[in-house]
Amino acid sequence: MRKKTQKEFEDDVKFANPYIEILGQYVNNATRIRAKCKKCGRLWDAVPTKITIPYTCPLCERQEELCSFLHENKLVNLDSYEDNFKRIRIKCNVCGYEWKAVPKTIKKDARCPICYEKGKKKKWTEETFSEEMNRSCPTIELMEAYKGYEEKYIANVRNAHTSSINPHISY
Ligand SMILES: [Zn+2]
Ligand SMILES: [Zn+2]
Repeated sequence: MRKKTQKEFEDDVKFANPYIEILGQYVNNATRIRAKCKKCGRLWDAVPTKITIPYTCPLCERQEELCSFLHENKLVNLDSYEDNFKRIRIKCNVCGYEWKAVPKTIKKDARCPICYEKGKKKKWTEETFSEEMNRSCPTIELMEAYKGYEEKYIANVRNAHTSSINPHISY
């Protein structure tokens, strides 16, 4: 097979992945080439054959995952995700409070400290508590009767695997 020219290679990449910019010189399909993701700015040495077919940038993918996770928890990230340990600004969509958090932590404990404190002060009854649970965690079914806002509960999550959860940290 005839070797592709730089232009042919770049056209193939652009066709499959318009968001990838080629920075390096194309040698052949076995030689990695410097590429840039225009969406997140990531630079890497790409395997030529992997980027002439539809390719998902792993950093963009993690960023989107984090965004949709935060969105489900009524939060939004104000800085873009770089890695699990780099602090980013988070904003609560409910009260507007902003703070900095490490993605690894926020994924475990996705709650706004202000709303959480407010929730702790509120006088919960079995009824308001289960209303709040239904509203903020529709996929979680508590298997125990109300015993307090701070308590851990046995719960059924989505596809019926039972786990112990702490309701206030699950929204
Ligand atoms: Zn990217
Ligand atoms: Zn809040």
